[in-house]
Amino acid sequence: MAIKKIGVLGTGQMGAGICQVAAAAGYDVVMSDINLEIAEKGKAGIAKRLDKAVSKGKMDEAAKDAILGRLTPVESMAAFKDVDLAVEAATEAMELKLKLFKAMDDACPEGAILATNTSSISITYIAAVTKRPEKVIGMHFMNPVPVMKLVEIIKGLATDDETYAATIEASEKMGKTSVTANDAPGFIVNRLLIPMLNEAVFAYQEGLGTPEDIDEAMKLGLNHPMGPLALADLIGLDTVLAIAEVLHKGLGDGKYRPCPLLRKYVDAGWLGRKTGRGFYQY
Ligand code: NAD
Repeated sequence: MAIKKIGVLGTGQMGAGICQVAAAAGYDVVMSDINLEIAEKGKAGIAKRLDKAVSKGKMDEAAKDAILGRLTPVESMAAFKDVDLAVEAATEAMELKLKLFKAMDDACPEGAILATNTSSISITYIAAVTKRPEKVIGMHFMNPVPVMKLVEIIKGLATDDETYAATIEASEKMGKTSVTANDAPGFIVNRLLIPMLNEAVFAYQEGLGTPEDIDEAMKLGLNHPMGPLALADLIGLDTVLAIAEVLHKGLGDGKYRPCPLLRKYVDAGWLGRKTGRGFYQY
């Protein structure tokens, strides 16, 4: 199937990034969030990033204008009536995603693919609340979306081959390389990453080192481009906690229990970069 128009639901850091790479690949993109104002904020953030790229000589004005011209913030999912692919990138919360998938199923035309950017939640479970489980798939972009090459593709139990092939094709058109993961908690990337980030919070909680020491040790000792606490701040501590909870519950093993200090930071509203404070101040 040929995908021409994409709807993105949730225009926060991931959703806006997905909108940007989709528009850069030539797709028409409608951007929806809780309301029009938030969707417009998502587009304004993209414009700011593109301005920076132009000022650095990485992109010309015409290319920037073409990308922005393909991005339309909308009031509601009513604007998804003629999309070929809808990508959900709202907050990582199971009940919310189930509610949004029911609404997306109603809003999208028959035959449209419904993808989720969830970091950890079962695709099979999300698909089961729709009337088209064969058209539901995991399309897990990495953060920041315009920079990171990978998209993890996750088939639910009912996902059909046509949906799988079309989603890989769309990812490639957006300049990404795909890896297919099984539908299990955290898929591949977060199954391995989140226990490491969570353990870094335990290390800090236990006084093993300051955040700076822990991050510096992992950068210089393992050649990681970012330390684990800085990366947790970038991802969003609410998102890291939500994924850790899915791993803990879904895999049923105590080794995945979220660190109490991580929970405390989230309770305090210290969510990392997006709120200006996490393990570091921004
Ligand atoms: P974010 O907090 O930046 O954005 C979430 C967006 O969802 C916000 O704009 C919010 O207004 C919107 N939203 C909340 N409720 C909504 C509703 N009822 N209807 C429409 N929109 C609603 O979070 P994010 O980091 O962009 O994460 C979004 C998704 O991407 C999550 O599923 C997360 O697990 C996944 N993800 C995150 C990362 C990361 O590094 N942060 C990486 C890969 C995948």
